[in-house]
Amino acid sequence: MKRLLKHDAAPTRHVVLAAVTLLVLGGIGAVRAGLAGRDFMFDLEQVTPALARAKPSLPDPQTPRLARRVFVVIVDGLRLDKSYELPFLDELRRRGVDSEAQSHYPSWSRPNYVSILAGVPPSASGVRTNHHSTPVALDSLMDRVRAAGLHAAMATDYDVLPRLFLRPRAPRITDVVAPMLTGTTKEAKVETSDVETNDVDDTDAVDDEETVAAVRAPDANLESPFDDARYAPWPGGFSESGDALAAGHAELVVMLLGAVDAAGHAHGGASEEYRDASLIADHALARALARIDLTQDAVIITADHGHTDRGGHGGIEPEVMTVPLIAAGAGIKKGSTAVDAHLIDIAPTVATLLGIAAPGHGLGRTLVEILAVDGATSTARQIADLQRIATNRAVVARAESNAAVDVLENRALRISFVVGGGVMALLLALLLVRRRAVIFDARLLLVSVPAFFVAYYAIIGAVGSFSPSLLPAQGHLAATMAKYGLAAMVIQLAFNLWGLRRQQTLAERLARANGIAWMGLMLAMIPAGLAWAFFPPPYISVPPPMWLVLIPAVEVAVACAAVDVALTLMVEVIIFVARAYYRR
Ligand SMILES: [Zn+2]
Repeated sequence: MKRLLKHDAAPTRHVVLAAVTLLVLGGIGAVRAGLAGRDFMFDLEQVTPALARAKPSLPDPQTPRLARRVFVVIVDGLRLDKSYELPFLDELRRRGVDSEAQSHYPSWSRPNYVSILAGVPPSASGVRTNHHSTPVALDSLMDRVRAAGLHAAMATDYDVLPRLFLRPRAPRITDVVAPMLTGTTKEAKVETSDVETNDVDDTDAVDDEETVAAVRAPDANLESPFDDARYAPWPGGFSESGDALAAGHAELVVMLLGAVDAAGHAHGGASEEYRDASLIADHALARALARIDLTQDAVIITADHGHTDRGGHGGIEPEVMTVPLIAAGAGIKKGSTAVDAHLIDIAPTVATLLGIAAPGHGLGRTLVEILAVDGATSTARQIADLQRIATNRAVVARAESNAAVDVLENRALRISFVVGGGVMALLLALLLVRRRAVIFDARLLLVSVPAFFVAYYAIIGAVGSFSPSLLPAQGHLAATMAKYGLAAMVIQLAFNLWGLRRQQTLAERLARANGIAWMGLMLAMIPAGLAWAFFPPPYISVPPPMWLVLIPAVEVAVACAAVDVALTLMVEVIIFVARAYYRR
C-alpha cells in the first residue's frame, strides 16, 4: 500500500480518505434511516390514546329496545359497487335499507374494526395500521352489551378481531374500561381518568415486545370480550359457526368474513376472482343467517374498507372508502336512506336498536333516519349523542393540540439540526475539493445522481400513486419501498460505473466517484431530515396519505443511496488497487 500511495500523485491519500469518510457517514445515515423506516408503521400506533385514558361518556337516554337481537356483519374488503347483484345482500336491501357508509383513513382493517365496534376512528383510537396487535382500551359495543346484562358473540374466519378487544380478567370491570396493558407493568393499571394529566409523551409505541408477548401468552390475565367467540377458518366453517350463533341467544352477534379481502389483495377489486369471492361470501352469509327472524331481529351488513381495482387499500380513494351499509329487520325503517353515514355511526345505531347506552368513547351518531322510532326516541338519542361526541371531541382535540404544540416547539430545533448538518457537509465538501479528494464533474453528476431518484419515485408513482393503497398485498410500507429502492439502486450503479469508465488517472476516477457519493447522500439525507423535522414520531395525528408514503420513502431512499455509495466506492477501490497492481 505504501508503494501504491507513493506511486500515484500527492492527492491519492486524500482521495482514499475522503472515500472512507463518505462511506462511514453514509453508513451511519443508512442505519438511522433504515431503523426509522422499519419503525414507521409502528410509530403510527398508540397503545393508550387520550380517549382510552378518559372516562367513557355514557349518557343513557333509556329509549325502548327495538330489536331482540342485532347481527353486525363485516364483509372485510367489500367495496360498494361490487356489493350489488349478490342475491342475499340484495334481498336484505329490498327488505330494508340500501345505503352506503364511508370508511375512515387510514383505510386498513384493524383500525376500522375499531371504528365499527367502538365508534372511534383511527385518528382517535390509536389503531392506525394492521400492525396493531395489542388490545384497545376503548369502550366498545361488547362492553355496553355486557354491562347491560346482555350477551355478545362472534363468528369469524379471521383471528384478529377478538384479540383487539381483550379485557383484563380481574377485577371485572365492565362499567369503566380499565386503561390496561400500558406496556411497562404487567398488571392492568387502573389509572384515574383525569384527562388534564395526559401528556403526549405517554404515547408508547406498540412494538413494545413485552406487551405483545403478554397478550400472546396462553395464561395472560385477559379474557375475550365475547361470551361466545368462534374462530372457524376452514372452508364452510364461517357459515357453520355463524349458524350456530344464530341458533343461540346472544343479543349482539358480530360476524367477520375475511375471504373477499384476501381475493382483493391477490387479484384486485376489479377482478373476476374478487367477484367470485363476493358471491361465495354472500352465499355463506345466507347460510349463516338463514334462521334469523327479521320480525324480531335486525341485521346490519357493512365492510371495513373497499379495494382499488388492482387491489390494495389504506388511502382515501372512493373505491376504498365507500362501503355498503345494508340494514334490515326489527327496528329498521324499510326504504329509508342513511345520510352521510360513517363506520363510526354503526355502534351507536346498534346500541339504539338494543336500547342500551352507546359505547362511551365513540365519536359517531345514531343513524336515526334509518330506524323505526318515534320523534321522542329520536330526539333523546340525538341529544345523548351530542353530549357524548362533544365530551370525546374535547379530549381528542386537547391531545392533538398538545401534540401540535410539542411538534411546533421542537420543529425549529429539528430544522436547525438539518440545516446545520447540511452546512457541515458543505464545508467538508469544500475542504475535500480544495485537496482534490473530491471532484464534482457536472456532466457526470447530471447523469448518475438523478438516476436513482428518478427511477425510485417513478416506480412508486407508476406502481400505484402516492397513497398507502399502493400496496396490493398486505405488508409493511417500508419493505415495499425497499424493493423499489433496490431496483432504482441497480439502475444508478450502472449509471455511476458507466459514467466513470473513461477516467484516465485512478485518483481522478475515485475523486469523481466521491463527488457522486457526496451528492447522492446529500440529496437523500436532506429530504429525510426535513420529513423528520415536519413529521416526527410519535404520530398523535396521522400524516395525510401522500406523507404516509413519502415519509418511509425518503427514509428508505437514504438507506439505498448509502448502499449505492458503498457499492460504487467499493468497485472503484477494487479497480484502483487492481490497476495499481498491474502498473507495478
Ligand atoms: Zn385488506
